[in-house]
Amino acid sequence: MDNFKTKNIVEKYGFKFSKSLGQNFLIDDTVLYDIVNGAQVNQEDLVIEIGPGVGTLTRVLLDRAKKVCSIELDSRLIPILSEELKDYENFQLIHEDALKVDFNKIIGEEKSVKVVANLPYYVTTPIISNLLTGGYKFKSLTIMIQKEVAERIDANPGCKDYGALTLLVQYFCNTKILRKVSPGCFIPSPKVDSMVIRLDRTEVPKVQVEDEKLFFRVVRDAFAMRRKTLWNGLKNIGISKEKLEEAFKMANIDPKRRGETLSLEEFANLSNHIYMQSK
Ligand code: SAM
Repeated sequence: MDNFKTKNIVEKYGFKFSKSLGQNFLIDDTVLYDIVNGAQVNQEDLVIEIGPGVGTLTRVLLDRAKKVCSIELDSRLIPILSEELKDYENFQLIHEDALKVDFNKIIGEEKSVKVVANLPYYVTTPIISNLLTGGYKFKSLTIMIQKEVAERIDANPGCKDYGALTLLVQYFCNTKILRKVSPGCFIPSPKVDSMVIRLDRTEVPKVQVEDEKLFFRVVRDAFAMRRKTLWNGLKNIGISKEKLEEAFKMANIDPKRRGETLSLEEFANLSNHIYMQSK
């Protein structure tokens, strides 16, 4: 069993960690099992893993899932993973940037698809954003991310962490923080605390919006300068001052409020009225 330990594999191949690729590999077995249990992985699942490293989490996933497809960018890890996981017939390795991969091709006809990953922290937000807005049929994303990002995702209106990322995730998913993970659980140790969070995609988005692109633009503009009022943030949204005033009035939202005070429902309502005024 010790042969499978991260440290031993790293040593065996003389692997040197790349900081710029966000390489902090897990060395704590309890965390591994908490991730896989938290993701509720079972024999019906195709699991897509982003950034397998030397395959520590991958191995636990392979024992539980029907199939695991791991996407790794670092070419030095490809031969290591191929060798270490060669006995698993349910393993597929893709050497590519997770930001450029065609997930529909990987998913094919699979019905139960879950993303499970200890994400490289330098691309956490673009990866989450791509996975959620790409229209893919994921049931859930169980991801290890920086604690601070998890707190932004799980924030409530009015608190300092609440922002565009919160609304992006909350629009598509119910969220559940599974556990905190300390720097000592990785080699090398990151400078920050981490958290494992599960994002469960709902069948349909949690609020109804007339125009999704416009909704996300309203959210983005409302938070572009946090200290500004909604009016200042949204005055260049593309409709006249009078129409924007009417949209605020119809949505029953005071334009002097700041974006961080609006709930998901209020953002949907406001963007729908802006949409109607633009017609
Ligand atoms: N899963 C392993 C573990 O838990 O020990 C490694 C996790 S490590 C935090 C992140 C992994 O993502 C590294 O293997 C790194 O090379 C890989 N990676 C970094 N950027 C990537 C990208 N854009 N696409 C795919 N993999 C990437």
